[in-house]
Amino acid sequence: MSNRNTFILENVRIFTGDEFIDNGYVYVKDGTIEEVKAGSSPDRIQLHAPIRSYSGYSVIPGLIDSHIHALSGNMASIEQSLRFGVTTVCDMHNNPDDNERLKKLAAGPEYKSLYADFKCAGLGALIPGGWPIPVIKKKFSHSGKSDSDLAEYTASWPNLSVPEDAVPFVEQQVKQNGASYIKMFHEVGDTVGMNLPLPSPDLQKAVVDAAHQLGVVAVGHALSYQGTMVLLRAGVDGLTHIFCDEPPSDDYIALMKETGAHCNPTLGLVASQTDEGRELFEWFMEDPLSERLLMSRAAYRPHGLASSQKPKSSIKHARANTRALYKAGVPILAGTDASGTGVGLPYGLGLHMELYALIHHAGLSVADALRSATSIPADRFKFHDRGRIEKGKKADLVLIKTDVAEFLEDRQNRLMPLAAVFRNGTVAAPYERFWNWGTRT
Ligand SMILES: [Zn+2]
Repeated sequence: MSNRNTFILENVRIFTGDEFIDNGYVYVKDGTIEEVKAGSSPDRIQLHAPIRSYSGYSVIPGLIDSHIHALSGNMASIEQSLRFGVTTVCDMHNNPDDNERLKKLAAGPEYKSLYADFKCAGLGALIPGGWPIPVIKKKFSHSGKSDSDLAEYTASWPNLSVPEDAVPFVEQQVKQNGASYIKMFHEVGDTVGMNLPLPSPDLQKAVVDAAHQLGVVAVGHALSYQGTMVLLRAGVDGLTHIFCDEPPSDDYIALMKETGAHCNPTLGLVASQTDEGRELFEWFMEDPLSERLLMSRAAYRPHGLASSQKPKSSIKHARANTRALYKAGVPILAGTDASGTGVGLPYGLGLHMELYALIHHAGLSVADALRSATSIPADRFKFHDRGRIEKGKKADLVLIKTDVAEFLEDRQNRLMPLAAVFRNGTVAAPYERFWNWGTRT
């Protein structure tokens, strides 16, 4: 007997997470990848697996969004993401109760067709009055909430001040709050017209060291050159943004190379902060497939926090910096910073916008852009069970109705024509009809 999450996809172009196989097959057994090879599939009768032939289609690993926030436990963070082929989301600071609920839902075997997997940092390494508190304060005051509402909202958040605070903070995130990695902040504020209190370099280094002692990576937020350099000197494993207030500099590239850190540029987020690139955003939102898959069609507004700092803060710098890192061989990760608040990028679809920007605005090859959303984040965050179409990995897959490389190469194209999305070999709900239609066993 064959299970629903046992099947063979054949006659497809495969991107394994590392390389392309022009014509091959993927054999999924009980939700796990059993075999991937060039050429024709083995005898299905012997394997008891339904076989599906998709000539002209491509299959890629499920996408990983390396930077989201499921604020207020927003379900769209996992539900809308999966619809767009994002099978894993990485939250980068959120309330532990919300994280726990989302993690549970994402882990439920009965929900594999509905939700993406949810990874988190727990709470970020916050200092009193530091980023992101002033931004939240601003948003609260716009929506008529008081300072005491803010105090209540942030009551359980960390308040690090000295290096000795680092170990208990990291232990709390990893052992109690389910963190798979640690998130730090070094936001000077100048790119967004603010002057913010900063953690000391010693505190930052202590947080990185504590994370490494527990075997997890530490990644850091900075939107300026200055903040980025402090994080790198503290030894962070990666950056959750590219900076946008300076063009590329040799000392920065050299330090990235020396430390081996990765960068998740979040080009869409930076453009949203400077209020640039709205055309690209709207073009993706108006795609007919996007319109079908989005859970809400409410218009998204740009963040705009850096719009008054132009031209010093500019998407041009962000693109040039990303391009320079890529040329230097620095690992690039794809992420959106989607937060579900109606500003910035939308969950799921935003990652496709980011891939477009990485390829057409920052010069990544199609294969490297796909790596940035599959194998590279899996390696960097130590998610050893996913990110590649390879024996033993979870069958997190995206089936695309065309040659994915040719499609992404052409700047006239926007959202990939998604045919089906699988999590652990289970087809995602919006694609059930397509998948069930014409099953041959
Ligand atoms: Zn963020």
